[in-house]
Amino acid sequence: MNQAQAVVLIAAELRLFLRPGRRGGPVAVALDGTCSLGHVVESLGVPLTEAGRLLVNGEPAAPGYRPRDGDVVTVEAVRRPQELAAARFVPDVHLGTLARRLRLAGVDAAYANDAGDDALIGQANAGRRVLLTQDRGLLRRRALWMGAYVRGARPDDQLRDVLDRFRPPLAPWTRCPPCNGPLAPVAKAAVAAVLPPGTRRTYQAFSRCRDCGQVYWHGAHSKRLEQIIGSAVRAADTGATE
Ligand SMILES: [Zn+2]
Repeated sequence: MNQAQAVVLIAAELRLFLRPGRRGGPVAVALDGTCSLGHVVESLGVPLTEAGRLLVNGEPAAPGYRPRDGDVVTVEAVRRPQELAAARFVPDVHLGTLARRLRLAGVDAAYANDAGDDALIGQANAGRRVLLTQDRGLLRRRALWMGAYVRGARPDDQLRDVLDRFRPPLAPWTRCPPCNGPLAPVAKAAVAAVLPPGTRRTYQAFSRCRDCGQVYWHGAHSKRLEQIIGSAVRAADTGATE
């Protein structure tokens, strides 16, 4: 008569993925005897990319485990910082501002504002890039090698979240914000012709994008860059995620 069920305890950091009525505490899940632990977690709305260790009755369990009646399942949040072999990313089409902010910080972020879901997944897989998105459906795609849900509505919050989660090495002024190409130092004489007269008089150090040719100098942009990067680094240092 009674249907088999498991009790699932979700880490506080993951409760935003649950339906509002379920965010207060343990969730009882009916079991049909065939679904896996990973499926149970995803059916509650939590992408597996966001889950850390899964425990069943206090013991670590694999996503393929089939929960039994009376099991108590604990879902931990992915541990920060999350280690990466290489800090390469591909933000989805809705995160263009985040892509530029990452590049400002010197982080490799490929981006195309017209990429469809399949193209994004292909790009992430081929380049071993972490797909950054706020689309949980995309994170559930089996073909995707690695993804991450980006928290925050504002680009500054999103940047802070990504830097806090992955702690990529930062190298401001090494990457072209519009195109992601690497910047290389260039002699003033080589770019003098394209500089506004005031810039030519005031600045001595220049760099140029190897991919698109855009010329940069340490001027008005750098103050804003320093503010953005400085606040992000400080937040990451203190472990804040909000
Ligand atoms: Zn460029």
